[in-house]
Amino acid sequence: MSQLQIKDLNVSIGEKAIVKGFNLTINSGEVHAIMGPNGTGKSTLAKAIAGHPDYTISGGDVLLDGQSILAMQPDERARAGLFLAFQYPSEIQGVTIANFLRAAVQARLAEGEELDATAYYKRLYTKMDLLKIDRKFTSRAVNDGFSGGEKKRCEILQMAMLEPKFALMDETDSGLDIDALRIVAEGVNAMRGGALGILMITHYQRLLDYIVPDHVHVMWDGQIVKSGDKSLALELEAKGYDWVKKELAHA
Ligand code: ADP
Ligand code: MG
Repeated sequence: MSQLQIKDLNVSIGEKAIVKGFNLTINSGEVHAIMGPNGTGKSTLAKAIAGHPDYTISGGDVLLDGQSILAMQPDERARAGLFLAFQYPSEIQGVTIANFLRAAVQARLAEGEELDATAYYKRLYTKMDLLKIDRKFTSRAVNDGFSGGEKKRCEILQMAMLEPKFALMDETDSGLDIDALRIVAEGVNAMRGGALGILMITHYQRLLDYIVPDHVHVMWDGQIVKSGDKSLALELEAKGYDWVKKELAHA
């Protein structure tokens, strides 16, 4: 059982405060969705947790199983068990998916530890079967001429191979078509529960038709202003975000 705690997090870009006192705790096995209008700081939150150098943490903390991750480099955060889904590589010519994934898995091992090739391929094929991915897929070069759906498939397979404790998926800006949406949803649904906790950022209610979240949070001006279950996402779709704004104004 793992826990990711985001405590009173403040993130700024340059002088501008973007995330303002954000609080959220995610346990293993839970799927949380963060929704909210454009520009409320959803991607900034995800990038700050990933350790992006342009984002300054000006207050608060992010704890993985009680340990602060804020002093860790992005690769250390990944090794500690965080996976950032928007971090799929751009095109890597001549590097097959199988070799790319092998390097990614190798990079997570302790120093001096070698990845056993037989064990690696066994794991790869197990995960591909789980995600219903054709064996031919892994002999293609990474993202070379990939459709949006294929990029997502590569990303989901990478996530399955790395077996993170928590996955942060920022789907807002990726312009997912219906094909890509289904691939993400099928992958997430195949992996959800058990040891994996998921933070899903989206402003499309549509994605949440496929991935039914355990908890839904509305982010507004850098913080969570409302939380609920999956019915909150439906309410947002029906009434829009202005309804939350009005409710806030009257609170
Ligand atoms: P969301 O993902 O909720 O749409 P973002 O986190 O992308 O919101 O953006 C929040 C705010 O931060 C916006 O006002 C945006 O203009 C600003 N912002 C985001 N990234 C940068 C950046 N690299 N430099 C300057 N401002 C940024
Ligand atoms: Mg965004």
